[in-house]
Amino acid sequence: NPVLLWFRKDLRLDDNHALQAAATSGRPVVPIYIREPEVDGNGPLGAAQEWWLHHSLAALQKALGTLNSGLILRQGDPLAVLEKLIAETGAETIVWNRRYDPAGIAVDTQVKKILRDNGIEANSFAGQLLHEPTRLRTGAGGHYKTYTPFWRAFEQSGEPPFPIEAPEKLLAPNHWPKSDTLASWSLLPIRPNWASEFPDTWTPGEAAALEKLKDFIDGALDDYAVGRDFPDTPATSLLSPHLALGEISPARIWHATRGLSGKIPTDDIIRFRKELVWREFCYHQLFHFPKLRTANWNDRYDDFPWLSDARRLKSWQRGQTGYPIVDAGMRQLWRHGWMHNRVRMIAASFLIKDLLIDWREGEAWFRDTLVDADPAANTANWQWVAGSGADASPFFRIFNPVLQGEKFDPDGGYVRTFVPELSKLDSKYIHRPFEAPDDVLRRAGIELGKHYPRPIVDHAVARQRALAAHASLKNDG
Ligand code: FAD
Repeated sequence: NPVLLWFRKDLRLDDNHALQAAATSGRPVVPIYIREPEVDGNGPLGAAQEWWLHHSLAALQKALGTLNSGLILRQGDPLAVLEKLIAETGAETIVWNRRYDPAGIAVDTQVKKILRDNGIEANSFAGQLLHEPTRLRTGAGGHYKTYTPFWRAFEQSGEPPFPIEAPEKLLAPNHWPKSDTLASWSLLPIRPNWASEFPDTWTPGEAAALEKLKDFIDGALDDYAVGRDFPDTPATSLLSPHLALGEISPARIWHATRGLSGKIPTDDIIRFRKELVWREFCYHQLFHFPKLRTANWNDRYDDFPWLSDARRLKSWQRGQTGYPIVDAGMRQLWRHGWMHNRVRMIAASFLIKDLLIDWREGEAWFRDTLVDADPAANTANWQWVAGSGADASPFFRIFNPVLQGEKFDPDGGYVRTFVPELSKLDSKYIHRPFEAPDDVLRRAGIELGKHYPRPIVDHAVARQRALAAHASLKNDG
């Protein structure tokens, strides 16, 4: 009887323990992917990530073909789909790699219990993280609430497991069950095709992820510690969307950063590893506080006087706030399905603190528009900016979008790329067009309010308003 191999957020052959278990079982293997319905905000992915999923599944199908295998696509409630497949194939065993978002855990726990009660062997494996989120405990036996001790404990707890290689072949079943076609899932946008520029930036799939890792280690990792803050230069790995759907394992990335001393400054290596461990810390938070996506980690923020302002929310989403660095970031997000980390922080701070709009609105927009949308990283980072999260940036640290732009995009190259109507503006004013003299604007072909908006809020005023709103909270946090 065949083994069912259930792919989820692990769309890869490399370093895949469930695949390894299936391959070494000596039995035919039926790889499957189930498009699951929405549960608690998880399930069908945001629209940008659905674009990615389409191409990633196509790549996985192709890669499985090289192992003499295939990929069965089904959609619906996972338990019902699996029970049907078990009946169709006579499978007595199912394997998968674990996931750690609350909705996913709830589904998997139920599926495992019911299948086991029915005599099916159901086994799950680790691999989405460097370590299981339960592994690191504080001295008192609890979970970590701040990053630095988490990182220290991480460093002291030994190397993450070594990645394993992909098998060379899978035994095919005598009869393949029916599969949906990928096209029938309609994951790609048609009209309008807002993803038309995605392929210029991204190649979904495992092969591209491994290549990108190699390029990064051979290139931008050197100088990562400094370069990572400047959005105009490609100085980060760009691996996040590949990690989000598990096209590459974090262990594969981690171990690629070993053995480089002497070639690459230690600072750069450590800084990069620390970011990978931020991803772990986000999952640690989500695992131990499953309401993270909807509830403030710090309940002191439950009474925050958010404003409901649909018009300004829309200006933010469309990159029309009148603050060039914010607008460039929001337009990069729309055009590429991705935004540079420094600009994510600036844009998120602007929504929360300058516009006083609830961080959950921003989280939802990012979830729908990011190709790397991740239930742990997205929520934990939004709460980090809002000040409501674990080990968050203090609320009173309010980014000034003009100064941030001038510091991290000094020549305005990033702004010019994503806000082309400002492309001819003198560098002196590129982050503050509203202060530019009329003749400077005229020479650059800009009429404020016509070609580019005036600021939708005055930052200095908005800052005071945010601080006052924060001061109105009960002071017990
Ligand atoms: P690199 O700098 O090359 O870092 C390597 C990897 O480390 C990343 O791929 C990512 O997996 C991890 N990483 C880096 N920074 C962080 C971080 N701050 N938190 C958690 N993991 C990190 N990242 C996501 O993967 N998905 C999200 O949905 C997401 N939402 C965010 C929302 C906000 C408001 C902010 C401020 C940050 C968010 N991030 C998110 C974190 C970060 O911006 C991205 O991981 C990073 O920009 C991805 O680019 P990269 O792969 O080139 O990163």
